[in-house]
Amino acid sequence: MTTTPLLEISDDEVEVVALVRQFVEDKVRPVARELDHTDTYPGQLIEQMKQMGIFGLAIPEPWGDAQVSTPCYAAVTAELARGWMSLAGAMGGHTVVAKLLLAYGTDAQKDAYLPRMATGEVRATMALTEPGGGSDLQAMRTTARLDGDEYVVNGSKTWITNARHSSLIALMCKTDPAARPAHKGVSILLVEKGPGFTLSRDLPKLGYKGVESCELAFDDFRVPASTLLGGVPGEGFPQMMRGLEIGRIQVASRALGVGQAALDDSVRYAQERESFGKQIWEHQSVGNYLADMVTSLTAARQLIMYAARCYDSGRRADMEAGMAKLFASETAMKIALDAVRIHGGYGYSTEFDVERYFRDAPLMIVGEGTNEIQRNVIARQLVKRNPVVR
Ligand SMILES: Cc1cc2nc3c(=O)[nH]c(=O)nc-3n(C[C@H](O)[C@H](O)[C@H](O)COP(=O)(O)OP(=O)(O)OC[C@H]3O[C@@H](n4cnc5c(N)ncnc54)[C@H](O)[C@@H]3O)c2cc1C
Repeated sequence: MTTTPLLEISDDEVEVVALVRQFVEDKVRPVARELDHTDTYPGQLIEQMKQMGIFGLAIPEPWGDAQVSTPCYAAVTAELARGWMSLAGAMGGHTVVAKLLLAYGTDAQKDAYLPRMATGEVRATMALTEPGGGSDLQAMRTTARLDGDEYVVNGSKTWITNARHSSLIALMCKTDPAARPAHKGVSILLVEKGPGFTLSRDLPKLGYKGVESCELAFDDFRVPASTLLGGVPGEGFPQMMRGLEIGRIQVASRALGVGQAALDDSVRYAQERESFGKQIWEHQSVGNYLADMVTSLTAARQLIMYAARCYDSGRRADMEAGMAKLFASETAMKIALDAVRIHGGYGYSTEFDVERYFRDAPLMIVGEGTNEIQRNVIARQLVKRNPVVR
């Protein structure tokens, strides 16, 4: 079944997606269950993704040579997630950091990182969430105090994806903890590991296996002042809000891929399995599940493409990205559950893949801002764009 939004992307981009689809069929799907069950880092697959240029899909010339449109990037992400969501997760934060550098980085910062990020030699992650909370970013406690020409960082972050395998971290912190409103004191530092930085723990989790989620501790960790994204302090909050637009489109696309995999498996199984002398899809209840699955998944794809086009236009896309992430993730969760129902007892078996989709789907509900927070963003923007004149 196709996940390519054929009308949205150029012929060249259709080929890029087809290449990734072939990679997923030949290399990913045959090993995903084993890697997931053994919680193994997919080193070989990541190497192949590097060779294919996947880490450079969001990086334009002169730093990269494989940039694609955001609709194509979303389709590639969905394909990877159709094979194994963890692979798509490994390039999510990386893309957000690349987009942050492109939009706000100084020339020196762009030249230092983007060429090596495009090849995947440098992989990047972003560190926002703290043990005390992820939704209320303005309440973050990690601080960076200027001392001469260095920042001294203290604090901790949690749930940071791919932190062990990333050499660049976009660290959100307070450079002015006393600033009011609080977001005016937030900055982003582009940090590499060094003395005072500890990767304190890998967090155990329900799904999203193979790719690590870590706690980070900063204890008088010193970095040059030149690591400040864009060189101006206090800009980190709006910078990251724009960065999260692509992050949310990426998470929505991951949900699309997981939902597609659950639908594909269900369509196949519903024809192979028989009961009461019929293929089970011919029982109206099961057929209705399939009908609802494909309808909601198709709607999710359209919302993602709408958000992706809006993002590429340069317009503010927080509402669009939020709607795509909200709808696609809730859709993937429902489809994964209905896939378990359609597979009966086998849906609960670790010898089938649907149990993995069911464990992977909830991440997209929580990650990159929970769906409760997406609703806040959507409602706020909706009213802002449609004010009542009294
Ligand atoms: C596997 C995994 C990978 C992750 N990767 C990263 C990463 O790479 N980098 C990173 O920085 N973070 C990462 N996260 C963290 C993720 O972004 C946060 O978990 C998420 O933002 C929620 O924060 P929290 O867990 O602190 O929940 P809380 O903020 O404590 O929220 C708890 C509950 O309260 C609700 N709530 C809170 N405030 C409001 C409000 N104002 N209105 C309505 N409801 C509200 C939430 O929606 C949620 O239901 C990851 C998380 C997971 C599970």
